[in-house]
Amino acid sequence: MPRRLSRLLRACSPRRWFARHTPRPATGRVQLPLVRRGGGTTMEAVGLRRSFGAGEGETVAVRDVSLALRHGDMNLLMGPSGSGKSTLLAVLSALLRPDAGHVRAHGADIWRMSETDLERFRLRHCSYVFQGYNLFPALTARQQLEVVLRWGERVGPTEARRRADRVLGQLGMSRKAHLRPAELSGGEKQRVAIARALVKNPTFVFADEPTAALDWENGRQVIELFRGVARDRGATVLVVTHDPRLLPYADRVIEMADGELLADATEATRPHHLDRTMIELTPVCAPRLKLREPAPTTCRP
Ligand code: ADP
Ligand code: MG
Repeated sequence: MPRRLSRLLRACSPRRWFARHTPRPATGRVQLPLVRRGGGTTMEAVGLRRSFGAGEGETVAVRDVSLALRHGDMNLLMGPSGSGKSTLLAVLSALLRPDAGHVRAHGADIWRMSETDLERFRLRHCSYVFQGYNLFPALTARQQLEVVLRWGERVGPTEARRRADRVLGQLGMSRKAHLRPAELSGGEKQRVAIARALVKNPTFVFADEPTAALDWENGRQVIELFRGVARDRGATVLVVTHDPRLLPYADRVIEMADGELLADATEATRPHHLDRTMIELTPVCAPRLKLREPAPTTCRP
């Protein structure tokens, strides 16, 4: 059948007609304002507290933590083991309800959302990378990514496969795309987990020790990918790590000890951040620079 005729027949099919003309039920999708380039606040936490256990056995993992994360920043959350990093990450990433405090994402208080809205928020806006990979045992590497795109973003099968293959390629996993988790090494499983996090254009990427199972070369590639997602797509990336080799890749380092934020420093000390600061300041500085331009000197013969 000629291609144009088959396209016409498909367009006239009753199923398509109804799909186009029947109003869709409101999905209740969490509407967040479009992300703006230029370092605005995307997430704000105020007075967070989270403890485990009760009475004598109570452990306060996060105590009175307030911070703001910006659009397009690659943040490292560092601190000794047991200092509350994973707990704070879980609270900020809509996975663990705090005992007290608020987390606002683009103005919406996530812990006041209904369970359904919270689930939509996670699905639509957040990507997660955990130490334990959390891959589906029955799916191949490619299918792990396709599932996210097809069911999370309603992407068609051809497009889902194209995007999955592109991201797997960026992580050097093209030749292993047909393998299941049991057939992959720890480092390869982590790369699939990271590919799955990056394939869906997330607003937020939350990663807990994502490079722990990787050698430095693979770890470096992974952290560069995370930084690329922050820089190029404007995502807010928060990575828990205790690996000091990742420091040069951060826009911002947030330090924790004993459940509290110690220091939130260094943004001005990172060379690439300086570049961006310069770019942001250019419109402000330019007129002043002009004023300070030396007066033209007259040359005498
Ligand atoms: P980090 O990631 O910095 O190593 P965690 O956030 O995992 O720290 O843990 C902070 C504190 O909270 C630790 O003392 C830990 O034992 C305790 N903790 C974390 N999760 C639980 C839990 N599910 N039940 C009881 N205690 C917990
Ligand atoms: Mg931890």
